[in-house]
Amino acid sequence: MAQQFPISPDSRADDPEADRERDDRTHEIPPDLAYRRLAIVNVVFVGAAGAGDRGWVLVDAGVPGSRGAIVQAAEARFGAGARPEAIVLTHGHFDHVGVLADLAAAWDVPVYAHRLEHPYLDGSRSYPAPDPSVGGGLMARISPLYPTSPVDVSDRLRALPEDGSVPSLPGWRWVHTPGHTEGHVSFWREADASLIVGDAFVTTAQESAYAVATQAPEVHGPPMYLTTDWTAARDSVRRLADLAPERVITGHGRPLAGPEMRRALSALAQDFDAVAVPRQGRYVPTAGASPGGADPGP
Ligand SMILES: [Zn+2]
Ligand SMILES: [Zn+2]
Repeated sequence: MAQQFPISPDSRADDPEADRERDDRTHEIPPDLAYRRLAIVNVVFVGAAGAGDRGWVLVDAGVPGSRGAIVQAAEARFGAGARPEAIVLTHGHFDHVGVLADLAAAWDVPVYAHRLEHPYLDGSRSYPAPDPSVGGGLMARISPLYPTSPVDVSDRLRALPEDGSVPSLPGWRWVHTPGHTEGHVSFWREADASLIVGDAFVTTAQESAYAVATQAPEVHGPPMYLTTDWTAARDSVRRLADLAPERVITGHGRPLAGPEMRRALSALAQDFDAVAVPRQGRYVPTAGASPGGADPGP
């Protein structure tokens, strides 16, 4: 599969040598961000190393079976027994909430997500079926096997505040970035232009098992097989490109930083319909109702 916007390895936001030395199984993106890759997905730890109990926040909650890896990385980074103050979610797809119920109970923390994502987090609604016909890769073809049924964390679930703030994360704001899911959000810190993207765009061709294994960096539209509103997805990428982030941490693929990433993100926003939207598929508007159409833009 052709890459969408290939990026040179110089644009990596992490520092492999420093990570090897620190050896806590996370990749650090200074000053206070780190992530751990769990098979196919990333979770993000926000907080300074050594922040201690209730001194940090977890963004997203991994694939099923990843509880041990998340807890181990958290304790290595923040201290033995260190629990977060909250778990915040970009969205509720299975690979972002795999061990959510477990962790939230064990840590006794609130779970924050956009109000439109709540039906998928309180047990009341399943996500639409994945579309295995888009993207052309193995990950897309096996997507009908991915769970779509909702988790239920209703006892701990809270809505992100309407004023755009993020509880327990001073200095951060949530940005509504629907398209991949209705209630998808990204998290933005203006002070150092850091962006936690979720799946609004990603930095690997998530449809392809080969690209997922090699993690060759590129700026790529949202994972195709689970994206249900391509017009909203395009507007969301444009909203994020307009922020001109210095560093981006996505749900899939390596974090990237710097001007080459920004150029690729602008190009993705510009050419989204041609590059990121599959030619046809269950959720792709048919010819005549082109996703470029009469939309006035964001
Ligand atoms: Zn997703
Ligand atoms: Zn995902």
